[in-house]
Amino acid sequence: MAAHPSSIGGARILLRRLREIMEAGGGAQERLDRLVSMIASTMVADVCSIYLKRGRVNELFATEGLKREAVHTTRLKEGEGLVGLVAETGRPLNLADAQHHPRFSYRPETGEDPFNAFLGVPIVRSERVFGVLVVQNKASRTYGEDEVEALQLIAQVLAEIVASNALGDLSELKEVEFKPSRPERLGGRVFSEGLAIGQAFLHEPHTPLGRIVADDPVAEEARLTAGLAQVRERLAALLDGDVQRIAGESRDVLETFHALAKDPHWEARLKAGIRAGLSADAAVERVRGEHRARLAGAADPLLREQLHDLEDLDNRLLRALAGADPSQAAAMPHDAILIARNLGPAELLEYGAERLKGIALEEGASGGHAAIVARAHDIPMVGRAGGLLTRVEAGDRIILDAEAGEVRLRPEPEVVRAYKQRQELRSARAAEYARLRDAPAVTKDGKRVILLLNAGLALDAHHVADAGAEGIGLFRTEFQFMVSETLPKQESQVALYREVLAAAGDRPVTFRTLDLGGDKAAPSVQTEREENPALGWRGVRMGLDRPALLRYQLRALLEASEGARLRVMFPLVTTLEEFDACRGWVLKEIAEAKRKGRAGPAELEVGVMIETPALAFAIPRLKGRADFLSIGANDLMQYFFAADRANPRVSDRYDILSPAALRFLKQIREDAAAADLPVSICGEAGGRPLEAMAFVALGYDRLSMPAQGIGPTKFMLAALDAGAAAAFILPLLDSDKVSLRTDLASYAKSSGIAV
Ligand code: PEP
Ligand code: MG
Repeated sequence: MAAHPSSIGGARILLRRLREIMEAGGGAQERLDRLVSMIASTMVADVCSIYLKRGRVNELFATEGLKREAVHTTRLKEGEGLVGLVAETGRPLNLADAQHHPRFSYRPETGEDPFNAFLGVPIVRSERVFGVLVVQNKASRTYGEDEVEALQLIAQVLAEIVASNALGDLSELKEVEFKPSRPERLGGRVFSEGLAIGQAFLHEPHTPLGRIVADDPVAEEARLTAGLAQVRERLAALLDGDVQRIAGESRDVLETFHALAKDPHWEARLKAGIRAGLSADAAVERVRGEHRARLAGAADPLLREQLHDLEDLDNRLLRALAGADPSQAAAMPHDAILIARNLGPAELLEYGAERLKGIALEEGASGGHAAIVARAHDIPMVGRAGGLLTRVEAGDRIILDAEAGEVRLRPEPEVVRAYKQRQELRSARAAEYARLRDAPAVTKDGKRVILLLNAGLALDAHHVADAGAEGIGLFRTEFQFMVSETLPKQESQVALYREVLAAAGDRPVTFRTLDLGGDKAAPSVQTEREENPALGWRGVRMGLDRPALLRYQLRALLEASEGARLRVMFPLVTTLEEFDACRGWVLKEIAEAKRKGRAGPAELEVGVMIETPALAFAIPRLKGRADFLSIGANDLMQYFFAADRANPRVSDRYDILSPAALRFLKQIREDAAAADLPVSICGEAGGRPLEAMAFVALGYDRLSMPAQGIGPTKFMLAALDAGAAAAFILPLLDSDKVSLRTDLASYAKSSGIAV
């Protein structure tokens, strides 16, 4: 009796018959042949075929209904035909009239002329499509939803069978790429320079499936229910446990998450899989595959976000079912290269920066704060490596070439050897920089440039001497808030600032007040979800609207610098009035401290970051108000170009080395000089030798940068004739070029300047 597949029972019968075929013995080809004929008869289809990917082609491995001689002869190139389309999109294709589809490709050797209806589903494992399972009918019809599902189930089980070598010996099968094994090179962008060799550690691991097919759906449903309860309870406990602790955006996210975890549709999809005969794990895996496939095709950012959340829930559930340790960091090997789609700065810090050899992201942006944290800790990082997640497996050997912007997966031993040599060369160069460490930075024509360090944690501050910096030009105080679940108490703020000052010794430290918002979130500080966070409630806007937080911080800074020098500056100031208000708070807190009999700092300088074009055009008016200026080039360029620094689509589209941006920076420096205000550049660009060369040519003499930029910049400066560079660059500022990067690079090369 042919079971009607439009029922759960139908799918179960399919699975049972499949198991019988597997248990009956025989060779791999024989099993595949029996499998296609069983599927065809159970689904009342005229044709059933299995295509598997060999190298760059989809090869026909078995068929019922097409000509037998086409097996292992019909080979469709990547993307060719309807099979290619299914493999490419990773989604089912259900057509009533396949022959009129624009991607239909006629292969005479198969004799498929009379078939109209076509249903193809991808054979997927670990997010990789490595084959396509097809049924076809002569009659023009659309397959029902349950039939699509039944075929997907079979494809899922088939994927596991093929990948686990359970089919038996077949020479053609050896070349099927069910698991990435060949060396691959993925291009990306350098987010933090360096070289690393290590093993892949997945931020969201793929939990291996145990059993796929289960005999006892009742027991599986009970396992699923228990797993779901565990995931939901954990989320509920997080939400209810401490309302104060998780607030603002984090709370919104969790609440949405919690609501999704209770979504009856999600649960129904999971249970349908179990009723069809899958194990609880395989049922989750199937739903996860659906979410991933929809994510791949979704352009709408809200839908993408929801699908990301759903995928995360699937992952949590898979981990719960496997009884896995939810704490990822604990399982990390000592030579881990962290692999993620995207990463927030707090997530990165949670891993313990010192334990990571490198980071590779499929997405991300070089101006984002995760990248800043990576640079601060000298962790090589490559971002925007397209296809990374589908090509890498946990434990794969990886070379992270964050010089060229490449991720090399499973490299050949010779390549590893070559990279080890390059690492040695890098260390030799580092030794060269170390030689210059204690020497002041001076250009060839005698111009003195002060190089300072950007830091954010006590650990970074201790690097000030090793890095050869003359002080800390930017201490990002928000990092302490970002890594703490609770609001850092005033005493711990004081303790941190004291430690930083002590680490710097007699070198100056510039503390920047809390700069949260945008892509920097602190679990303990409540913020609302915003349409445009980069243009939203961030930096000093938050501080001025919530003066309590700002005043506590100022008190901590005053206490830590009693009897010493305090340099404090404010982020994201837009108007003079805002800056006056900030300075006003400093003075009020000093008066308050005096009233309490405290000494206060021996010397006070209050500065402001130039991060908004509005303030950049108000520099003459800052004379007498501010004691110093520091250009936050990351944000200033974000607002100058109207390009979100955390959005990879636009963040690398515009160049700070464009004539327009350089003219703007030149104007700022001239205005600052006319107003007698010392000015530095403290964005990431200051630590890149080519950019630093341009800034010095424009007259800047103070640059604050990540530790790893100091050695190369000092080295570059020693070879630079600043006067000659200025003579070269100034006329170019009037050009129509999009960027002067190439001109500057060839100038450096011909002048023997290493950039
Ligand atoms: C900047 O914007 O350039 C800057 C130094 O601040 P942050 O990167 O912390 O926003
Ligand atoms: Mg900034």
